Amino acid sequence: MFVKEAENIKYAVIGDPVAHSVSPAMQNAAFMAAGLSERYGKYHVVPEKLAEFVEFARRNLLGFNATVPHKSALIGLLDEITPEALAARSVNTVTVRGNRLYGDSTDGYGLETALKESFGFNIAGGRIVLLGAGGAAQAAAFEFVRRGAAEVTVINRTVSKAEALVRALAAVEGANTALTALGNDEINQAAAAIAACDVVIQATSSGLHPDDAPPLALEILREAPAIFDMIYKNTPVLQFAKNNNIPCADGRLMLLHQGAKSFSIWTMRPAATAAMRDALDEALSK
Ligand code: NDP
Repeated sequence: MFVKEAENIKYAVIGDPVAHSVSPAMQNAAFMAAGLSERYGKYHVVPEKLAEFVEFARRNLLGFNATVPHKSALIGLLDEITPEALAARSVNTVTVRGNRLYGDSTDGYGLETALKESFGFNIAGGRIVLLGAGGAAQAAAFEFVRRGAAEVTVINRTVSKAEALVRALAAVEGANTALTALGNDEINQAAAAIAACDVVIQATSSGLHPDDAPPLALEILREAPAIFDMIYKNTPVLQFAKNNNIPCADGRLMLLHQGAKSFSIWTMRPAATAAMRDALDEALSK
């Protein structure tokens, strides 16, 4: 059974695990900057309890964010899903209005804005290499195809997952993106794709923990024009980019902008991104 920690907790992030999430710090900075009394909490929700949490939220909250492992499972539990979330097959933002629950995805917006701010990169017409084929990579890949990327190459440890993702991307209506799937061990093709792209997106979970091995042989990245790592830590991939003077950015701008868009969806106000960014930096430095 889920219980509210305080009456003014009207928003929250759910995940399994969730203790590490910095979204409460970031979102509460936005609520305070906007002079709103609502606050944002966190709930540890295991997959078997997701449906129960959704009904708890319907009665008690105004909205929530979802992180691993709930983003795709939510699609079947809500009343309406936006085309963006359906295209990404992922919901990270739920809004409660009346008795109805609306699912949206702001991860694509967050990534797109982060890539523009970090490198001046535009998805439309862009050539992208994606490392990983898990939930985060999938949501990003569907966004790239939907937004008219010229080329997307998916490189993954388990090549069958990269191939399955590319098949699903090719089936997107109106898709006009050149798609390639590679395994981590196809070193020559991977290095060639990386040298020919505009940006490499590191979307594996490798690097989350300090002693993680790199997700692939780092030498493959030597000719990368720019590297964006979705993880908001100094991963082996980011360290390699810094050592080799490759323009690079970690995932905190993506986290910031997906959160800012969630805030705007819930409150219909612009988010105070400067206050959110300060709170995010402070929370991540702890
Ligand atoms: P998943 O568990 O769904 O997928 C993990 C992916 O990483 C798979 O492709 C997996 O390959 C690969 N992988 C894991 N370990 C290794 C390894 N040792 N070597 C090579 N490849 C590996 O995770 P998500 O897609 O949900 O999340 C990926 C990352 O993105 C997380 O670290 C998450 O924190 C981050 N993220 C950041 C966001 C932001 O706002 N900045 C938003 C969303 C996610 P295989 O298929 O072979 O198992």
